[in-house]
Amino acid sequence: MAKRSIALLAGGVGAAKFLRGLVRIAEPHRITIIVNTGDDEQFYGLHVAPDLDTITYTLAGVVNRKNGWGRAGESFRALGELERFYGPAWFNLGDRDLATHLYRSERLHEGAALSEVTAEIAARFRIKARILPMSNERVHTHVKLKGRPALPFQEYFVRRRARGSVEAIELRGIEQARPAPGVLEALAGADAVIIAPSNPFVSIGPILGVRGVREALRAVRDRVVAISPIVGGRSVKGPADRMLRGMGHEVSARGVANFYRDCAGAFVLDEADRRQLEAVRRLGINAVATDTIMSSPARAAALAAAALAAVGNHA
Ligand code: GDP
Repeated sequence: MAKRSIALLAGGVGAAKFLRGLVRIAEPHRITIIVNTGDDEQFYGLHVAPDLDTITYTLAGVVNRKNGWGRAGESFRALGELERFYGPAWFNLGDRDLATHLYRSERLHEGAALSEVTAEIAARFRIKARILPMSNERVHTHVKLKGRPALPFQEYFVRRRARGSVEAIELRGIEQARPAPGVLEALAGADAVIIAPSNPFVSIGPILGVRGVREALRAVRDRVVAISPIVGGRSVKGPADRMLRGMGHEVSARGVANFYRDCAGAFVLDEADRRQLEAVRRLGINAVATDTIMSSPARAAALAAAALAAVGNHA
């Protein structure tokens, strides 16, 4: 296992699947994961951070494998009782999961920064990798659908099941958001920076929007590699393809590469899209093709090795 330091820009489920592979080929204590918090939402007075928790639960080995989010062996008794007071719930919060939200909310209420609380939670789960929220300031992603006012991300994604044609993404609060302590240092000091196969607009976009992050990536562009979440012209899961279309981008791996071209010097696309290699290279990006479907940790590990090799870090 090579001794290199790696920074990963991460959303939720797509990034977590990738991490299950990355930790097989890189030392966990040399991995810094910079996580989107634009999806965070308040429920029942609690601060819920879905992407942070998906990453944490996955690395701790306690994630619900079938869903890719939430805890394994979960029950929903507390949520049933909450419905007594609040009416039907549309956001699933399990009993075990609630403990994390209670702890996080209490610590934030005491005045701790989200980055401190995130580190505390990771330590309690005995996670060796460093998990950082993108910012300690609140960014609230909203999704603008055709002919409708903008909706908070979770209302669009969970309550409306990501239906509708997306016209724009609003990152409310992004101008005020500063990178969490350690974010810029991790990017500047990494041997490789990986942009996970996450949603470019609502998972990676908010991270890139935090002051100084895009500039930090541009400064190390030769060491930055992005992985396509679009395979064969479609998202593997979720609305990334519809978002690309709705916002006027080409719905393809090349369309994603174009979105990242200023900050990623390398790009990994799927074998299914091999014929786009030349077109991506013409964007000034070192493109490579490999199997990117992460149906097992071993496959995710092979993808991680290919991504690292694309920026000169061979296993
Ligand atoms: P979320 O925040 O939980 O939606 O998760 P992410 O933003 O991290 O990941 C969602 C993206 O991951 C979607 O656009 C999917 O297309 C992509 N994705 C999920 N599984 C895979 C996979 O096995 N391979 C690739 N290449 N992309 C994947």
